Amino acid sequence: MLHKGYGLVLATLSFVAIALTTMAVKVGTTDPEPIVRTLDSMSFVVDSIESELLVAQKKASEIDTPTSEPSAPPPPARPKNIILMIGDGMGITHITAATIANKNKLNLERLPVVGLMKTFSNQLITDSAASATAMATGKKTYNGAIAMDSKGRKLKTIVEIAEDKGLATGIVTTSSVTHATPASFYSHQPKRSRINREVSAEFMTKKIEVLMGGGKRYFMSKHRKDERDLIKELEKKGYTVVDDVDEVGSKVPRKMVCLIADMQPKGYSRRGDFLPKATAKATKILDRDKDGFFMVVEGAQIDWGGHSRNSKFIINEMLDFDRSVGEALDFAEEDGETLVIVTSDHETGGYSINEGSLKEGEVAGKFTDDYHTATMVPLYAYGPGAEAFSGTIDNTDIFFKSCELLDLEIPADILEARKKSELEGLDATTKLDSTDIMEAHGADFGSGYGRRFQKNKDKSEKQKKK
Ligand code: MG
Ligand code: ZN
Repeated sequence: MLHKGYGLVLATLSFVAIALTTMAVKVGTTDPEPIVRTLDSMSFVVDSIESELLVAQKKASEIDTPTSEPSAPPPPARPKNIILMIGDGMGITHITAATIANKNKLNLERLPVVGLMKTFSNQLITDSAASATAMATGKKTYNGAIAMDSKGRKLKTIVEIAEDKGLATGIVTTSSVTHATPASFYSHQPKRSRINREVSAEFMTKKIEVLMGGGKRYFMSKHRKDERDLIKELEKKGYTVVDDVDEVGSKVPRKMVCLIADMQPKGYSRRGDFLPKATAKATKILDRDKDGFFMVVEGAQIDWGGHSRNSKFIINEMLDFDRSVGEALDFAEEDGETLVIVTSDHETGGYSINEGSLKEGEVAGKFTDDYHTATMVPLYAYGPGAEAFSGTIDNTDIFFKSCELLDLEIPADILEARKKSELEGLDATTKLDSTDIMEAHGADFGSGYGRRFQKNKDKSEKQKKK
């Protein structure tokens, strides 16, 4: 305000000065004396301008009281809902492969904010449990831990915090609902393997409105030592329980559990459009809550394509995941209050594209490994608060930023730990040994990976001996 007024007066002054100089020069060519006279006669103009300047300054200072100061830039927009979408094992090459296969276009391109995320756990190369725990709780932990820290304490998850505050929550995945990634958002287990029945029992103690994926047997009395019929218990608690998302038609139940497979759901070609349909249905169910919602959608089998060193497997799962991103974005665009975050827990396979054709939609991929790598993963965001996810962030930031945006209370010890160095607690182990990989992974794949892994390991050990 003050500067504007000042500037205007100064501009006027310099205009007058230029005019005077011009006049002086003109007059000066014929008679030097009038210059002084002219300047003298014009001095009152300068005087009056000076006094105007003082008045303007005074006025400006009167106007510029703190109450009338043009308000500071509006606070950044906050979302009412957050949809966190995790492509398990999805690195930049996985996205590129799907882009090539899909005529150079993905729904992912509809998200305007892009960033990179570090995926380290307490070890250089994370597994899905530790990475999901970092995103769900804001704390790095050891590989295989399901929302537990390295001292064996339970870590409160963002889903649990959101439920406490009255938000609706939901979990949708193409793995078993008890698998490492989804489990880390609502369950607490020191080890990820052979805990399916414990995880399903833990779900019964939560208020989560939507659960969709595989793992039906872990809810069935004949497959449980405690003989609890969790399906019946769910129905008693008011859940609509189905084994196909189409079963409810256009109805929007209040709470819904959809278990599409006995253990792990099949790959895309035999599973069909479960994930995009489930994503769309879940948003409708959760949107009923006026307090907002937090929802996790996982494309679980992208990772399995990487472990299997199989481009076709990766592309099918990627495109299925991308169509689910499209469903989430359609909802968010119409809703206007939903933040959609799409990222990954880690890269799988050290995947690269060395040959192919954009025209033919063909990819010839190569893999440096059949396990996870330490490579940073991409992150995309759309909607209110999306800007917070640009740049390079840590996997624990998903928790902190989401809590801040939804105004959720971060546990004091977690907030305290955040201030300490990210590297604290990182040990020297750079990679799980093969037995740990089997322990953490192979057994619960259902894709034959475990058996293949063991076979390859035996073969390479034999060759070493030779
Ligand atoms: Mg997973
Ligand atoms: Zn994996």
